[in-house]
Amino acid sequence: MLGNACLFHRIDDIYRCYDELMGVLDQFVERGMHCLLAVIPGKLTPEMASYIRRNGNFSVFQHGVLHANRGTPARRDEFPADIARETMTAELQGGKLRLEDMLGSRVEGYVPPWNFTSGPALQVLEGLGFRYLSAGNAVLPTALRTLPARVDTLASYRPVRVAPVEHVEKHLRKEVAARGTAGLLYHVKDIPPDEMPWLGNVIRRAAPLTVPPGLWPVFLESRSAA
Ligand SMILES: [Zn+2]
Repeated sequence: MLGNACLFHRIDDIYRCYDELMGVLDQFVERGMHCLLAVIPGKLTPEMASYIRRNGNFSVFQHGVLHANRGTPARRDEFPADIARETMTAELQGGKLRLEDMLGSRVEGYVPPWNFTSGPALQVLEGLGFRYLSAGNAVLPTALRTLPARVDTLASYRPVRVAPVEHVEKHLRKEVAARGTAGLLYHVKDIPPDEMPWLGNVIRRAAPLTVPPGLWPVFLESRSAA
């Protein structure tokens, strides 16, 4: 059913419009490509919400609530196990409702800030009606269907280092060979503005293998729990 489509794109830390980000998002729109946006509900501006509402090829997963670290410097997590369950529930539900209200559609997926959250937080997400989780490597057992985004567009963040497009493609191929699918992760604010043509090249070359907007629901249902 999915044919060659085995890649998805996930852009993190979405909440406000700025030139570089809008340039990247517009490329997805112009190419008719699907893109998963990890949106921070507590910071989402009406301007960005309205842009997302206007463009049907984006899907939205909730990205924390305020994207604030309450874990440790070594294990950053907005909802570590020591936060009271009632607090977790109220905050995560508040974020979900705000997103749904501003976007005018249901939000059923979650991307934890720093790609990790605790076991109790995963249980709270299940209880709130979330069905999908896109995180990193360290996913704890959960009933949520998982779609990890393990391949980063940047080779390194400190210092920022861009890898040749061929390297990104090699990582994607390895991931597809191992797991059948791959997710490509973008933190646009960390990518130097003069590297935007390079990023455009990455997007263009990934286009033929990208899950199209119309097949996104099928792709989601093909994922299994962790
Ligand atoms: Zn983030």
